Amino acid sequence: MDYQPELVGGHLVLDLVNTVAWRLHDRRRIDRLADLVNLRKWLTASGLDPSDRVMEVRSAVALQDALVQCREIAYAVLHPLAVGAEPGAEDLAVLRELVEDAVRKASLVSSRPLTWRADTIADRVRLSVWRFFEDEDLNRLRQCDDGDCGWLFLDRSKNGSRRWCSSADCGNRARARRHYQRHSGASA
Ligand SMILES: [Zn+2]
Repeated sequence: MDYQPELVGGHLVLDLVNTVAWRLHDRRRIDRLADLVNLRKWLTASGLDPSDRVMEVRSAVALQDALVQCREIAYAVLHPLAVGAEPGAEDLAVLRELVEDAVRKASLVSSRPLTWRADTIADRVRLSVWRFFEDEDLNRLRQCDDGDCGWLFLDRSKNGSRRWCSSADCGNRARARRHYQRHSGASA
């Protein structure tokens, strides 16, 4: 089926991490960024506006590599945080290096408020990793309750009760499963 990016994470960095579908299921796992057409769809949906020059095959492949590298190290740090564990020191050091590298190359566009701009899409994404940790409340970071999904999101609900990446998707499946179990249990 055609890939339609679903941006449900609540932040660019989480939507990047969520370009792996069924991350927790070894055989079902799909990397959406492995395909350049899908990569372009995701960039457009995320407002990263891939220009034609950026999307020439050679630079598209370089961008793909950079985004996948950033995604996987971001996931290595965010996943433990989402499930109440501590990220590894080594992963934090690698993430910090990526972010620092982007900050070093960025230009300052305004000082009040302090605003940096990166020239490339890869660096813009790395800067947004930095902003994520600066701006967001990590207590609201969650992993979808579905055992195979593995998507991360910020729970911005008032009472902190969001359980699913998408109630129409994983939430619906869980409801259908509960319904089935109840009814098949009754007849057994
Ligand atoms: Zn889910």
